[in-house]
Amino acid sequence: EKNKTKPLQTQLKRRKNNLSDALSLSYTKPIQMYGAAFQYMYDTDGNTFLDAYNNIIQVGHCHPDVVRAGQRAMGKLNTNTRYIYDELLSYTDKLLNKFPPELNKVFLVNSGSAASDLAIRLAKTHTKKHKTLVLEHGYHGNTQNAIEISHYKYHHKGGNGRQENVLQTMLPKLFNVKLGNDKKAAAYYIADAIQIINENKGQIAAFIAEPIVGCGGQVPLPQNYLMEVYKGIRQQGGVCISDEVQVGFGRLGKYFWGYQMYDVIPDIVVLGKPIGNGHPMAAVVTTTEIAQSFDNGMEFFSSFGGNPVSCAIGEAVLHVLDNEDLPENAHKVGQYLKNGLKKLKVEFPELADIRGEGLFLGVELLDHKNLPNTVLAKNIKNELREKHILISTDGPYDNVLKIKPPLYFTKENTNLLLSELRIILENQKKIDTFKVYN
Ligand code: PMP
Repeated sequence: EKNKTKPLQTQLKRRKNNLSDALSLSYTKPIQMYGAAFQYMYDTDGNTFLDAYNNIIQVGHCHPDVVRAGQRAMGKLNTNTRYIYDELLSYTDKLLNKFPPELNKVFLVNSGSAASDLAIRLAKTHTKKHKTLVLEHGYHGNTQNAIEISHYKYHHKGGNGRQENVLQTMLPKLFNVKLGNDKKAAAYYIADAIQIINENKGQIAAFIAEPIVGCGGQVPLPQNYLMEVYKGIRQQGGVCISDEVQVGFGRLGKYFWGYQMYDVIPDIVVLGKPIGNGHPMAAVVTTTEIAQSFDNGMEFFSSFGGNPVSCAIGEAVLHVLDNEDLPENAHKVGQYLKNGLKKLKVEFPELADIRGEGLFLGVELLDHKNLPNTVLAKNIKNELREKHILISTDGPYDNVLKIKPPLYFTKENTNLLLSELRIILENQKKIDTFKVYN
């Protein structure tokens, strides 16, 4: 079967013919994938890659329990939420069990973008307000609504800038700010958000944020940030949305949901990516009151959202997470990896900040002048690819290494990643022999 795959150049040509150039490819030297299992991926040349990047494949590539659940359900029944079937009820029971009692209504859709979009609609319908407060460098999806609340998109090349009804506050990033200690920095960012809230009092429907801002460069929020901003938003009649698309479902180890890191409970939660372990599904979880306001005469219907196949897959994912204690593994291996990176930083100070929780980590790279080291980040990503290890880069300067593997990642996998990283950083010292990727 492998031999039937066409050469990379042919595939690239076909891709160019069939798809828009607006789609991107990872790596200077793109990879033609053939298959995958757990934390490993296989290319068409027979190479095995260690996947330290895919936070969608939460319980491992092609986990047999998830695959079987999908296959079985597909051969039995596929329909929509206008009928009664047990898969929907069984799955939503189990999903809601993961939330506190006040978050007790779920809407099922097919992508994180559709979920963000719906979350904003729910907030606006419930509050009868029209403004949204967002974080700089945040990303929430690819629909019109989602792009308009994603600074990561509207503010950059090809974007239309910020819409009038969108308010933006600074990314509350404690690292590398010249604001004194962390407490002072946190207060500074909270003050910025509160000032914007006060200037728009009574008009803000929603505040949306990720608990650790992924596209912003894996940035955890200051400890009391959400508590203070949520209070301000609610006092003027708005609701608070937590975008858990990247960090949810046990990735953070000790916290099944990201908002739990900060002792808050949002009014609306957006779920995606790992919810179906790669199967296209997503969800919005909210309160009875918000769900009731949304029941205003207009039907909510999604052709595929909540179909029995997706529900069976979602349920299998929850089962595997619990059954195999994968959040606990994320906690243990995540700490081991974070400690290993911190040790490496002693030798290589260019690893300026190591942050994140569980298996959702970021490494911010700076140069000797303390400026973002975008070139080094790109080099490391591409050199690791040569060593058959997959990671990514992100952040406003693309100088943050993103490490967020399937939760099957082991200590042995971590040792390999760290030792290869060390070799690359050593080579980096011999800068003239170090390849610069374009
Ligand atoms: N929210 C966040 C935080 C995301 O990272 C993404 C996807 N990268 C989305 C929403 C949108 O999800 P999807 O790509 O499934 O539409």
